[in-house]
Amino acid sequence: MSVGSSDSINSKKKCRCGFVAHHFTVTTPMNYGRRFYKCPLPKKQGRGYWEWDDVEFPPQAVIVISSQRRKLEAFEIERNRLMKKIADFEASAVIDVETITKLRERLDALEASVVEDNSKIVELRGKVFG
Ligand SMILES: [Zn+2]
Repeated sequence: MSVGSSDSINSKKKCRCGFVAHHFTVTTPMNYGRRFYKCPLPKKQGRGYWEWDDVEFPPQAVIVISSQRRKLEAFEIERNRLMKKIADFEASAVIDVETITKLRERLDALEASVVEDNSKIVELRGKVFG
């Protein structure tokens, strides 16, 4: 059986060995969300204590829960896809900012050299044409 997290802090049950029983929530489709108690010891060391905390879910509840789970999983997949898309977009936007900054620096350098060349031309013109 696949289980979710154990919340033994809230457990009021004790197993046959006298330990506070671990409290689990099932994550398999048939009993999804149904909670149970279990001996905290490994199977071979304990006395096999195991007990449901919740009553068995009616078949319609199992159908509704699994349907909602499938929808939730689909939403999570879509959310993760969109979050990756946003991350990719943000990464490309950062690259664009870096590219623009480098291009601006090159443009500034070019403009500075054009200004320098112009002043040399003006100086030469002055020498040639007096
Ligand atoms: Zn036990």
